[in-house]
Amino acid sequence: MVEYDCIVIGGGLSGLQCAYTLKKQGHSVLVLEARNRFGGRTESLKVDGYWFDLGGQWMGGTHKHLKEICKEIGVETFDQYDEGKHVLELNGKRVYYQGNISKLNTDYNLEGLEETIAMIDKYADTIDVTAPHKHPKASEWDHQTVAHWTEKNVKGKDAKGIIDWFVRVCLAADPTEISFLWFLLFIKTAGSYSLLADIRGGAQEKRMIGGSQQISERLAEKVGLKNCILNAPVRAIYQDGAGVQVKTEKLTYTSKYVVVTVPPALAGRIEYRPPMPATRDDLTQRLPMGSVIKTIVIYDEPFWRKDGYSAEALSDLGPIYICYDDSSHDDKKTAIVGFIAGLPAKQWALKTKEERKQAVLDCYARWWGPKALKPRHYLEKIWKDEEYSRGAYLAYAGPGVLDGCNGALREPVGRIHWAGTETANVWIGYMEGALESGIRAAGEIDNRLKSSKPKY
Ligand code: FAD
Repeated sequence: MVEYDCIVIGGGLSGLQCAYTLKKQGHSVLVLEARNRFGGRTESLKVDGYWFDLGGQWMGGTHKHLKEICKEIGVETFDQYDEGKHVLELNGKRVYYQGNISKLNTDYNLEGLEETIAMIDKYADTIDVTAPHKHPKASEWDHQTVAHWTEKNVKGKDAKGIIDWFVRVCLAADPTEISFLWFLLFIKTAGSYSLLADIRGGAQEKRMIGGSQQISERLAEKVGLKNCILNAPVRAIYQDGAGVQVKTEKLTYTSKYVVVTVPPALAGRIEYRPPMPATRDDLTQRLPMGSVIKTIVIYDEPFWRKDGYSAEALSDLGPIYICYDDSSHDDKKTAIVGFIAGLPAKQWALKTKEERKQAVLDCYARWWGPKALKPRHYLEKIWKDEEYSRGAYLAYAGPGVLDGCNGALREPVGRIHWAGTETANVWIGYMEGALESGIRAAGEIDNRLKSSKPKY
């Protein structure tokens, strides 16, 4: 006799949204979470009475599911601060711009950039998010990195620099690492380059009062805390005609179906009986996580604002490649959030925290003067070091992975279904994608539970 209709593995946004949806559909559900907290790639830390996000942070204008859940659980949002001059540091020059990144309103010559963005959006638009590998140009696009593509197709050196920068900060991996087809899929699920790059109307439009981790905590309460078990890393999943056995280090739980919401590379470390089909196993070996170190520097005053700066800076020199004003909604706590991303994040992770802190402060002093050298607090999180994430913001595919995977990312294997932001139809890599994939997987399980004959 099985205990649950469905066991959901992972207590991040995807898993908890999936479990909550299944519960509302009338099914019995259990969530198993490896960490001692809910939220996964979202984590909020309280400092001097204010919450700062070390993981997922911004809500975009088109993040429909995120908006809905925030409304339902009463999480309030506020606008990302972006008044004043933004810094653009590229190919050894420093200039300033205003407004959104996708338009780069500056007198600096960015010849070829507009055409390149239009071409990328046009190609991305032709991709079917449920089957990118079936696109007529799938092989051609998948068998080259973004770097190969820009080398051949982008006219100006500075335009190429901006695209390289965009890839690094948005996908947390370098253009030399990512398949051009994966890049186009990423753009397609978000809607366009500008929706990803921008604050106004884009992915960085709003922040949440109290941070983003509270969404997972409230979802867990809605599922029922007795049905959400922390400190329960799943080590093995066995399935047969009678049901599924899910094994943690200490206990075995049984159910009719399972939804695995952990990132693909971590899903590949679970033992399966019978073993996974070759295409699925191959895929999980070849979707590494991106590299990102998120830093937050808390200051006594927003000295940059007084000098007419927004604290937004876009740089190809680093170690901070993008940063924003991270002050609280009431401006009582002032801070700057900055990202070290892609290959440099791996190199900076090898240094000491003190070395990273000094490099970040030096970077801000370069842009906004010596006051930047005197912070109240320095916070950071190296996502590659997290045992149950092994990187962030998301997984990425190198050349030849998507073309050969035959859709194994989402295709159920017997009684096991897959969710998590990497499997999303919208906003792959974002909180929105996590929620959407959880709802989609819950729908799949609901259909199977309703059908009198399980397909397995
Ligand atoms: P996860 O959050 O990874 O959840 C998977 C869960 O599974 C985790 O809780 C993990 O502990 C657990 N787990 C792993 N292995 C096992 C196991 N064997 N057994 C049981 N449990 C297991 N998104 C945005 O929308 N806006 C942003 O501004 C943004 N910025 C980001 C900045 C950073 C630094 C990071 C790290 C992420 C950011 N993201 C952002 C991405 C966003 O946070 C993620 O897309 C989203 O949280 C992923 O949710 P998920 O449930 O799919 O995966």
